[in-house]
Amino acid sequence: MRIALFGDIHANLEALEAVLDDASRQGVTDFVCMGDVVGYNADPVACLEKIRAMGCPTIKGNHDEDASGDHSLDSMNPVAAAALEWTRNQLDDDQRQWLRRLRMVRQVSDFTVVHSTLDQPANWNYVTNRFDAGANFSYQFTQLCFHGHTHVPRIYVKSDKVQEVPAESITLEAGSKYFINVGSVGQPRDGDWRACYAIYDLERQLIVFRRIEYDIATTQQKILAAGLPPMLAERLAEGR
Ligand code: ZN
Repeated sequence: MRIALFGDIHANLEALEAVLDDASRQGVTDFVCMGDVVGYNADPVACLEKIRAMGCPTIKGNHDEDASGDHSLDSMNPVAAAALEWTRNQLDDDQRQWLRRLRMVRQVSDFTVVHSTLDQPANWNYVTNRFDAGANFSYQFTQLCFHGHTHVPRIYVKSDKVQEVPAESITLEAGSKYFINVGSVGQPRDGDWRACYAIYDLERQLIVFRRIEYDIATTQQKILAAGLPPMLAERLAEGR
């Protein structure tokens, strides 16, 4: 059985469709979404409806929370806040309620999923090094946990100590724990513009990262046509 772990779609429909097509070519039968379905890019409704129709386990991200609430966004970075205000106006009540009802943490099969980190998931802390990952491991009761939020693919392994290993592929070993950031479908920030997700092969206990090209020009045109901040289109090409 192969499960696709994907998240931080951020309303990028072209990237989402490219990832789902690749996953079916790779023999994936099940999907788990790490959250941040909406925010930043120009297709929040289409992405939300596609994921809702898939019926896959989906975790709440901070942009899902902000887009479905009516609280002030003044403390946010102005570009993200402008995109969230725009997104709030695209969603109907039913779509907002679907986002609001997403859970922060879930166990699926033999692993856990969370958007940010298992220590205080509602605080949306960023895990950017092995010390942050160490705080997560104290709350991780399955061997394997997937997350997102930083938009940078990462593999942290805890055996006698916590280490980071290259985010390419990894075979799980008994006695170690794994906290894996699956990167971002719709707004990667590791310098590679291609959509990122991971496939977990349960029989082989193997996790492989995938990078997928998509029609970025169309995504950029939609961002500009929607009147969203132009830097949101520029950053996609830079993978930042
Ligand atoms: Zn995000």
